[in-house]
Amino acid sequence: MNAYDCFDDIPKLNSFAALGAAFYTRLPTTPLNQPALLHVNTDAAALLGLSAQALSEPVFLDVVSGTSPLPGGDTLAAVYSGHQFGHWAGQLGDGRAHLLGELKGPEGHWELQLKGAGMTPYSRMGDGRAVLRSSVREYLASVAMHGLGIPTTRALSLVTAKNPVMRETVETAAVVARMAPSFIRFGSFQHWAAGNHPEHLRRLADYVIERFYPECLTSVNPYVALLECVVKRTAELMAGWQVVGFCHGVMNTDNMSILGLTLDYGPYGFMDGFDARHICNHTDTNGRYAWHAQPAVAHWNLYQLANSLHTIVPDADALRAALDQFEPTFLDAMQKRMMDKLGLSDWQEGDETLVDDLWSLMQANHADFTLTFRQLAYAPGLADVAKANVTQLQIETDLGHTVHSGLMPFIDLFIDRDAAELWLERYRQRILRNSDKSDFNRIQTMLAANPLYVLRNHLAQAAIEAAQQGDASEIENLMTVLRSPFVAHAGMDAYAALPPAWASHIEVSCSS
Ligand code: AMP
Ligand code: MG
Repeated sequence: MNAYDCFDDIPKLNSFAALGAAFYTRLPTTPLNQPALLHVNTDAAALLGLSAQALSEPVFLDVVSGTSPLPGGDTLAAVYSGHQFGHWAGQLGDGRAHLLGELKGPEGHWELQLKGAGMTPYSRMGDGRAVLRSSVREYLASVAMHGLGIPTTRALSLVTAKNPVMRETVETAAVVARMAPSFIRFGSFQHWAAGNHPEHLRRLADYVIERFYPECLTSVNPYVALLECVVKRTAELMAGWQVVGFCHGVMNTDNMSILGLTLDYGPYGFMDGFDARHICNHTDTNGRYAWHAQPAVAHWNLYQLANSLHTIVPDADALRAALDQFEPTFLDAMQKRMMDKLGLSDWQEGDETLVDDLWSLMQANHADFTLTFRQLAYAPGLADVAKANVTQLQIETDLGHTVHSGLMPFIDLFIDRDAAELWLERYRQRILRNSDKSDFNRIQTMLAANPLYVLRNHLAQAAIEAAQQGDASEIENLMTVLRSPFVAHAGMDAYAALPPAWASHIEVSCSS
């Protein structure tokens, strides 16, 4: 290790470690064979105060590959429990994740965690490793979600290694370094309720409140207030997922962040053709975590969290009242987002039916989720986009691309064009009744709410296949469009286009 290293100037805190030994196991990572840095996310590095130059220091690779501990850090694996696919699974924990420490960046604290850096006491039957395929997917998904404005854990780096890892076939190992203010899950609370340790549960809740929800401290019952906050954040998160067609795939309570972040990217997926019953996880044969079910599952998971908090909050009615805020918060968040997606400047009578009928139309036609919304802004007869002076917007290139490129116009996304035209005519009439008559505003709102690029499975697959050859260029290309998915990027039409036929055969399972 260098006498001076790039992490030296960053203050370390390790507040999670201060919770006490019951909450984790201290242990070193298990180094990989010939680790190499495949990609670094400079946006995430900046959050830690790491310069571009720092990222090429040998110590950076040593730390993010699990070769050496974080100088000044405190390496540990946390314990938690949880419900998996609706069944109580008992103790789980960080089976292949190591918390390296907590760093004080320029604008906040970040825990740095490695995924795939070796076994822990919580590995159960697992090998403590992650394969390159799933690591690329986690790395890119974190960027995609952040670019979409959806709360998520962040990814700092992607390291490959020579170690063979046995899954359905032999694959190669990789490690993702990821960051979040905290990785505490609903399951972290369930762990202490199930084990009948109210004192630990209280300590955990106090820690979470003090660090992340200080506004709860002044409430009559801070623990109820905490639940209320988590209910609201989770409901907002669900609305965020639903309106971009994101499916998590494994919404077990141990994968639910207490901060309302998207956490643990496994067999997730962004929908191509719309199907409300879409199941992204090949292993989820019953569709427990299908797209349409996600909000209800989140509510169920919150119920489990409330159940755990009941250990230290005798007033069950107060907890129930907090849970009851899920539905109105979710519906309100959905309505706001759908208004923006459709460019409705106010919510009028009949709008609910109009929106529902669009979903039905998309369902019946298996219309592409992303392009349907994106292309609606340009639907013919709605606005003379040039006259609307949209070129003044920063999306100037976007207009050029959409008009001149091979991207399908709205109506072409539907097999039943007559039905689509009928709906579009109703939509046109509705737009005329907008309280804000400005097409400029409407188009601007719609383009800022409807991404042009999402991390479609086939795009991730191409990046994986290149990465397996040591080529990070597809990751780099995807990072470019996913970082700012609402504006068109020159020469990147292929990343916005409909998926090729083979995309529908990609199967993603829990195996990672
Ligand atoms: P997940 O479905 O990815 O959230 O994982 C559920 C549990 O299994 C967590 O406790 C993980 O840490 C653990 N786990 C998953 N894969 C592995 C692995 N390869 N080695 C050790 N533990 C694992
Ligand atoms: Mg998990």
